[in-house]
Amino acid sequence: MHVLVVEDDAVLADGLSRVLGSHGMAVEVVGNGAQADQLLQRAGATAAEVVVLDIGLPGMDGFEVVRRLRARGNAVPVLLLTARDAVEDRVRGLEQGADDYLVKPFATAELVARVKALARRHTAPQAALALGQLSLDLAAKRARVGDKVIELSVREWAVLEYLLQHASRVVSKQQIIDAILPWGDDITPNAVEVYISRLRLKIADGGVAIRTIRGFGYMLEPGA
Ligand code: CA
Repeated sequence: MHVLVVEDDAVLADGLSRVLGSHGMAVEVVGNGAQADQLLQRAGATAAEVVVLDIGLPGMDGFEVVRRLRARGNAVPVLLLTARDAVEDRVRGLEQGADDYLVKPFATAELVARVKALARRHTAPQAALALGQLSLDLAAKRARVGDKVIELSVREWAVLEYLLQHASRVVSKQQIIDAILPWGDDITPNAVEVYISRLRLKIADGGVAIRTIRGFGYMLEPGA
């Protein structure tokens, strides 16, 4: 599990890194908010799965880091560290979208327990979606038809994931647009048609079909 520790106190950061590391976590440490903000925009296998975030940081503070994170639609669990035993700090942190907090000084055993609890809570109950020969590995963001990996753009992925979540049900173009909106602006119904036709080609051998339901939208169903 990848954990990002954002802490400007080098001694504390080093301690946290060693404690979490000794529990088998891959720990990355940064000392300021701007750098954390940048790293948190990274996707894929090296993306943080839990963030341990100090509130008092030079430049961009922890509140702003978590606010930006949630504004991007990123739901990675965040554990706030606060030096101040101030109720308003905790409330503000939780309001910005943090999941939990620890007041310094804290026992390292408690930190480890909280990080593990957050990771567990966050683990998606559904790791994969599948229909026919088509499968989406949601954790690895990998789509397959049978054993063959198929390449999808971010938006194609979002459309296909939505269709699979609603397999054998009719979904409207507007529902699809809403599902892919986090990935960009200006998505028109015509663009949805383009994604659908590209997806039809890419999943052609998957034993599934995206049917056009005239006047309503689309339906992903078994049988080509
Ligand atoms: Ca600090």
